[in-house]
Amino acid sequence: MDNNEKELLNFIELFCGEVCREVFNKLMSSGRELIDEELASKLGMSVNDVRKALYELQSLGVVSYKRIREETEGKFIYYWRADVDHINQLLLQRKKAVLRKLEDRLRMEESTSFYVCPVDGFRMSFDEALENDFRCPKCGSGLEYVDNHLIKDKLRKLINKLREEIMSEEKAVSS
Ligand SMILES: [Zn+2]
Repeated sequence: MDNNEKELLNFIELFCGEVCREVFNKLMSSGRELIDEELASKLGMSVNDVRKALYELQSLGVVSYKRIREETEGKFIYYWRADVDHINQLLLQRKKAVLRKLEDRLRMEESTSFYVCPVDGFRMSFDEALENDFRCPKCGSGLEYVDNHLIKDKLRKLINKLREEIMSEEKAVSS
């Protein structure tokens, strides 16, 4: 399983739980359309649980179905499949949101210096520290200057890595 697939499964579990993760994983790894009974017997789950999970996955937009009327009894049969293209787009959106947050955080770290209370770890900006005469507003201890260049380095690395990932994924989506 590659990293993208792992990330995908974590994303699914986060939004609709462990049963959804298992159902989706089985559907994705089988690489073909499956009906709910097949999925249930492959997973050792009840058909009801599988159906519930499939509808949740559908509302998340990561699976879709094709409905076909059976010749003999006239019942509808649902053939489910993993909708990987759509998921990749969702992941891309999420990465962009994370990137924006990291960029905001970096801007904040670059725009001011920070001070921290050595007793309880309370952290504040230069302006806030100045307002409090460089004393902790909680316990009164003297504040210490925080060297944040390691944080900034880390943020810059993360931002560059994410930007590269987003760029290469956007190319893959548009080609
Ligand atoms: Zn304090």
